[in-house]
Amino acid sequence: MSRRTFFALGATVVLAACTGDDTDSGATTTAGTDPPADPSTTSAPATAASTTTATPTTTTTTTEAPVTLPGDPFTLGVSSGDPDARSVVLWTRLRPAEATLIDEVPVMWELADDEAFSEVTASGTLVAEARHGHSVHQVVEVDAPTYFRFRAGTWTSPVGRCRPTSSGDSVKIAAASCQHWETGFYAAYRDMAEWEPDLIVHLGDFIYEGAGDPEVGDGRVRTHGTPEPMTVADYRARYELYLSDPDLRRARAVAPWAVIWDDHEVENNYAGLIPQDDTDLAIFPERRDSAYQVWWEHMPVRLPPPNPGQDYPIHRSLRWGHLAHLLLLDGRQYRSDQACGGVTLSFDPPCDEVFEPGRTMLGVAQEAWFAEQLQATDGGWTVVAQQTVMSRLVPENGAILNYDQWDGYPAARRTLFSAVRDAGIDPIVVITGDIHLAGVGRLVDDDGTVLGTELVTTAISSGANVPAGAESLIEQFPDVVAVELEHRGYTRHTLTADTWSAEYRMVDDVRQQDSGVSTWRIVQLAAGSTELSL
Ligand code: FE
Ligand code: CA
Repeated sequence: MSRRTFFALGATVVLAACTGDDTDSGATTTAGTDPPADPSTTSAPATAASTTTATPTTTTTTTEAPVTLPGDPFTLGVSSGDPDARSVVLWTRLRPAEATLIDEVPVMWELADDEAFSEVTASGTLVAEARHGHSVHQVVEVDAPTYFRFRAGTWTSPVGRCRPTSSGDSVKIAAASCQHWETGFYAAYRDMAEWEPDLIVHLGDFIYEGAGDPEVGDGRVRTHGTPEPMTVADYRARYELYLSDPDLRRARAVAPWAVIWDDHEVENNYAGLIPQDDTDLAIFPERRDSAYQVWWEHMPVRLPPPNPGQDYPIHRSLRWGHLAHLLLLDGRQYRSDQACGGVTLSFDPPCDEVFEPGRTMLGVAQEAWFAEQLQATDGGWTVVAQQTVMSRLVPENGAILNYDQWDGYPAARRTLFSAVRDAGIDPIVVITGDIHLAGVGRLVDDDGTVLGTELVTTAISSGANVPAGAESLIEQFPDVVAVELEHRGYTRHTLTADTWSAEYRMVDDVRQQDSGVSTWRIVQLAAGSTELSL
């Protein structure tokens, strides 16, 4: 049963994000690998063949990079990401039509204190390589908010704004997820860019892999226009389509991003090396390799390119002064397959498989890394950015409504909660995407101890999984505080040492590119507490 068929049935409660006909069964564990180095110690990715060390005080004369390109190669925009206290990654990707004739394209990067680039404060050159899709990941040193741009041939890119982390009194973090091209426009991103956040955290489903719906209408405002991507070329074309949206490009340029993936960057509800459809088992590892490579090519991440046939650890941490310690998790690559056939919206009691102690969400290595990171927290907010809903949504008969969420991985959730308790830290805040609704939940351990708060951001544009009107039903679950089902949007988190404020922004009509955006609720949380005011 496809998700659309499911909608057509008019189910009243579909607590199933990104569901599909996953009929796999049998717990298969994909083991984790070594954790990646902390971004502050990770060296520049291999593609960034920098020939100039960036120092914000160095002035370099700008010269044309010696290459002739027939058209503007910078139409995919610019971005930055994974900042630390001294540096940030700058990203662009040359538009393929302008770069395919040349294996190696010389590109210059430039920094300036003003948007007009009246004085270039630092610059360098690098090579955009065909084997990396002509993408560029350049680590530059910055000590304050800074403008950046790229040049290739006679062409100059749009200007982006990047920054390092800071030791200031507050930080503005926007949280985003789930931006299905076909089911809505990106007014949320226009509104996000206007807010000028310090950091944008993307929780996954940056693209959707579905085949293009031939018909606009029936809830679709535009079409993918191509079949389901399988190869590197296919996935590149899908990212190029998404980045053709000006509101998305604007948000990508306005502040550094910290990005993790969920399932749709590869395929709906995949688990480790297990695809949604059994028939794809043989080709899935290669398909996943292609998807991972192309994800890296388009994301401003401080990570090396993935190696085909190997795990690709993307879990990492980011410290924002003493205010926040962000742990960015990967709940897709190492997880056990969804239990009990991965059925969605079943009110039947679960099968025994779901309770098997070896079932994992993060994999053993990532779990160990997570526990170490918590032990190393030195005050401030501990923020866990991850994919699927962690709060319990379990009816009285113990039914599991969505086997793709943490409810379907109870042993793994117990392990994660134990790590939080063992670290002896203040309650955590988990920020979550995936489910296309806005929600506030409590993270409650088996003995009733409240270990933290979950703030679920709704989708930027992906269609609702739960029809509006089911709010009161969902709010009956003991660990759910509030939900909003009707609107798409994103969340503005403002953190100070004492207070966390989460402003849920809602797009009036996701079918309108110029839609207004308004506030549903501002949720406040005091440091050290799980008491919420809404
Ligand atoms: Fe999604
Ligand atoms: Ca998802």
